[in-house]
Amino acid sequence: SDVLDVAAIREDFPVLDREVGDEPLVYLDNGATSQTPKQVVDTIVDYYYNYNANVHRGIHQLSQEASIAYEEAHDTVAEFIGADGREEVVFTKNTTEAENLVAYAWGLNELGPGDEIVLTEMEHHASLVTWQQIGKKTGADVKYIPITDQGRLDVDAARELITDDTEMVSVVHVSNTLGTVNPVAEITDIAHEHDALSFVDGAQSVPTRPVDVKEIDCDFLAFSGHKMCGPTGSGALYGKEEVLEEMEPYLYGGDMITKVTYEDSTWNELPWKFEAGTPSISEGIALAAAVDYLEDIGMDRVRRHEEAMAEYAYDRLSEFDDIEIYGPPGDDRSGLVAFNLESVHAHDLASIVNDSGVAIRAGDHCTQPLHDKLGVAASARASFYIYNTREEIDVLIEAMDDARQLFA
Ligand code: PMP
Repeated sequence: SDVLDVAAIREDFPVLDREVGDEPLVYLDNGATSQTPKQVVDTIVDYYYNYNANVHRGIHQLSQEASIAYEEAHDTVAEFIGADGREEVVFTKNTTEAENLVAYAWGLNELGPGDEIVLTEMEHHASLVTWQQIGKKTGADVKYIPITDQGRLDVDAARELITDDTEMVSVVHVSNTLGTVNPVAEITDIAHEHDALSFVDGAQSVPTRPVDVKEIDCDFLAFSGHKMCGPTGSGALYGKEEVLEEMEPYLYGGDMITKVTYEDSTWNELPWKFEAGTPSISEGIALAAAVDYLEDIGMDRVRRHEEAMAEYAYDRLSEFDDIEIYGPPGDDRSGLVAFNLESVHAHDLASIVNDSGVAIRAGDHCTQPLHDKLGVAASARASFYIYNTREEIDVLIEAMDDARQLFA
């Protein structure tokens, strides 16, 4: 790449040396899960070899060390997204849990008939299903900001849809199907004009571009560690301190309390009020290691690399008349491209390119209503990260020829 020293980066990822069948692995499923660099794996190993202990409650040395590392991991993540401090960063298992945390802790308590939740037509099921079901439980209506023919958010329509009845606006920052980068700061502004809260699904944006919660001014931001060089079981919910202070806890139990009697309990300070029970300790510490790793590279360079990969993939796929690509043009998208090869089901395509060592995703990518709207049941998706090269995209393009021949 022109932006990153990809050869040096690849050295950090042992899995990239493996073969699939007899072919070198070409890993283009980063939108689902990214690979994990040695630095992050080493952090986990170091934890289990040297200071594995429960956090928050121990007096002994190991517990002290684990507690400090786990708490400081919150500071690292807070700084990464421009939050004020650890009070504003709740560690979760993933984006989905962060969405549900707010839906249950805030939504169930605050929403009722006459209230409106505004989503977009390109939401991932993590937010779509969650808010849809909270709507059913509370009687609040769910509305969807439509997308344009090019797969962008219709911001004019958003201005009409978001009203004084709107209580929550939840928008995906980068669509995991269309690659669209949504104007989340603008949408947040509109939400705030109507005293609604704004929730940004950063699952695809935080790993791939600089994201600053102050610039967006969102009330919530959610993301997953496993898409940004971190381990599965790690993720975070950012919330504005004053908003989190007002919110009821989501899970009750140990560590989230200060005083408990048989009759009543009081809640711990932020963010621990929302982290009941023993958390994912090594995962949280390793999430901070992933952040350090990405910051060493520089998120702006990550973004430029992602965009360059997406543009190249878009251009190469556009060479063929029998390929339909979804979402905006190549020079205006984040690092993923979903498409269909005429007359070959996406699942067959993924299976055939797998024979050439190429890992892509096929299915609805947890955006079924969006696929319905696009008029297809499934699509193939290639998604890129810091270790991918143009040559790997060429391997995908060549492998697709095998599918053409098989299904001709
Ligand atoms: N939102 C978006 C936009 C995503 O791409 C994903 C992951 N596919 C999620 C939410 C859910 O992430 P997780 O499965 O880690 O909770």
